[in-house]
Amino acid sequence: MGTGEDMVRILVAIGVAFAMTWAGGTTAAGSVASPSPSYVFPIQDCDASYGRVHHDYPASDVFAREGCPIVSVTDGVVDEVSRRDRWNPRRNDGATRGGLSVSIIGDDGVRYYYSHLSVINRRIEPGERVTAGRRLGQVGRTGSARGTSPHVHFGLSWPTPHRAWWVRRGMLAPAPYLDAWRDGKDRSPARAIRELRDDRGEIPPCDAAC
Ligand SMILES: [Zn+2]
Repeated sequence: MGTGEDMVRILVAIGVAFAMTWAGGTTAAGSVASPSPSYVFPIQDCDASYGRVHHDYPASDVFAREGCPIVSVTDGVVDEVSRRDRWNPRRNDGATRGGLSVSIIGDDGVRYYYSHLSVINRRIEPGERVTAGRRLGQVGRTGSARGTSPHVHFGLSWPTPHRAWWVRRGMLAPAPYLDAWRDGKDRSPARAIRELRDDRGEIPPCDAAC
């Protein structure tokens, strides 16, 4: 009898130990299954508003107080940085309309373009690796945003040679993605951007506000 009870106790002990191990494993797997979000809203710690559409081509002007922090929406590498405002309203050259601007090539293959900044952070230089939420600079009104309410012009496109500013400024409406990121949900523009590039070609001709 004694031996039988011992055996039951041993089996129960093994069962409890197994259950605890398994529970620990489940917890670890659960934390792997819910990583930090891959995409975040481009303006942090400030009220921001944006429209569904943009004049002439797809993009979003995200309005916020001057000086509000602008962040990388996802992980990637800095591609282009313009630290000087060369825009001349009489010439209105498309290549300079962004004023102070930053482009990021996301690990998802999408190019994210931010322009009209008042300040670009010191270490944000081409080749710099950034993660989602990394501060890039501050909201402003440089370039063709001179005289408007401060905002960041936010464009989604695909990588091109730098001269193709009419692609960089935006090829896909960002509003549905901004909606998701504002609500803390992951939504990737990568597939839509790939399909657009396949459809339009790498450098389609400029067809509006050229
Ligand atoms: Zn704009």
